[in-house]
Amino acid sequence: MLHNHKKCVSCGKMFLEIRKSDLCPECLSKEAGSFQKVKDYLYDYPGSTASDIAKFTGVAETLIVKWYEDGRLEKSSIKAVAKCKICGRPITGGEVCKNCLDEMNKPMNKDERKPQMYIATKHEK
Ligand SMILES: [Zn+2]
Ligand SMILES: [Zn+2]
Repeated sequence: MLHNHKKCVSCGKMFLEIRKSDLCPECLSKEAGSFQKVKDYLYDYPGSTASDIAKFTGVAETLIVKWYEDGRLEKSSIKAVAKCKICGRPITGGEVCKNCLDEMNKPMNKDERKPQMYIATKHEK
């Protein structure tokens, strides 16, 4: 069995990655509750912005954006309020989309030019 140690994006604790997840088991169960809250809120108030949802549910806006980016929340149910500064994709908050954020967080490596090119070609219409 190959398991990776990962750092939880929410609390920063190291944990053993069993399922593909950015969160430790503890935060994952907390997240499940938060996710339901957001879903309920969107059911009552479709078309809300991520910052509105965060304000009323108490769920971190970054989490809501993450779910939006992951496709766990219906894209049509949340109002995109911003555009990614790098690739121009509509995002619900912050300044860059999750993809670009991941790219920026990657260590600089001369062998990793492909993602950059990928972003560049996405601009072309
Ligand atoms: Zn955690
Ligand atoms: Zn982007």
